[in-house]
Amino acid sequence: MSLLVDNIGELVTNVPGAGEGGPLGIRRRAAVLVEEGEVAWVGPAADAPAADGRIDAAGAAVLPGFVDSHAHLVFAGDRAAEFAARMAGEPYTGGGIRTTVGATRAASDGELRATVRRLRAEALRQGSTTIEIKSGYGLTVTDEARSLRIAAEVTGETTFLGAHVVPAEYADRPDEYVGLVCGPMLAAAAPYARWIDVFCERGAFDADHARAILTCGQAVGLDVRVHANQLGPGPGVRLGVELGAASVDHCTHLTDADIDALASTRFDCMCHEGGHTTTVATLLPGAEFSTRSPYPDARRLLDAGVTVALATDCNPGSSYTSSMPFCIALAVREMGMTPAEAVWSATAGGARALRRDDVGVLRPGARADLIILDAPSHLHLAYRPGVPLVRQVLHNGVPR
Ligand SMILES: [Zn+2]
Repeated sequence: MSLLVDNIGELVTNVPGAGEGGPLGIRRRAAVLVEEGEVAWVGPAADAPAADGRIDAAGAAVLPGFVDSHAHLVFAGDRAAEFAARMAGEPYTGGGIRTTVGATRAASDGELRATVRRLRAEALRQGSTTIEIKSGYGLTVTDEARSLRIAAEVTGETTFLGAHVVPAEYADRPDEYVGLVCGPMLAAAAPYARWIDVFCERGAFDADHARAILTCGQAVGLDVRVHANQLGPGPGVRLGVELGAASVDHCTHLTDADIDALASTRFDCMCHEGGHTTTVATLLPGAEFSTRSPYPDARRLLDAGVTVALATDCNPGSSYTSSMPFCIALAVREMGMTPAEAVWSATAGGARALRRDDVGVLRPGARADLIILDAPSHLHLAYRPGVPLVRQVLHNGVPR
């Protein structure tokens, strides 16, 4: 079965040189042919080949599906009351993670699976065709392994985050907990994980502990990403660069040395003028929104040539949104990004943060993950915040 998405008013390809708009590679009056879950052809609507089926985009904008490279979907319970208390003036410390840990350990596999599937479906409806999912609310050997096993049922991008916080029962023995994470917990989790991550932050894991854990993960074939510099300045970003992390996430409090370290990983490539950085800075404005904290300065990163991704950080404590369009709107309004930069970062940028070249882009051979907007241009994603603009999603070529 082939399927032609026809009569596209504005097609964002993320193939620079394919059209206007710099890195977005925008084509006008375009069509996309989909075959066997892949993009088979992209070109002018007037030259479109015949196909078994046809979707009329009616002049609307079509984009690659969003790549949400940072989400925590395996948990139980919610923390609405904590959110309300914060909005009434209490500060965010990250301590509430332990509340979710308790609820997650008490939940059945079926309850966790239902939550993961509900949130995965919610994200897909809003255009997220690729999503990364972390463990990190189990914090025992059994609960981390089952969190990843359940996450792996809905995505290939699974991340072992046993080092999210030190659980209460190890509060006085953090070294012992690090030993558990590096030993039996990693062994149980690794078969279900592609990535390893650490919350490297005051009150969570320091640089020595984070380095030890991430290196153990690398030794068993997991690639590195780091929660870094969210609550204050710290060593996380530079540690991520040192270890060749695909992404350092949050990046809210950066020194010039942090920016220089990220910029030093730049390499030339065909797909983006000015090249990319091996280590991507993933910004999570939903977290600043939900904790009423100062936003990271995306402009500073972009002007230094650092590759920036946008993701939701969907989790019950500090960012309970699965909406990439919401994050795009925040990035434009609050973080100094242009609409074009934010859309690139939410698609191709997320793909870079996951070291993927088959998603976040619409070219022959890429996965047929695309979204049709109820709008004539990608600009509307930031221009019309809070409006459900994703009309239709194709995931692996299948209309949803
Ligand atoms: Zn996170």
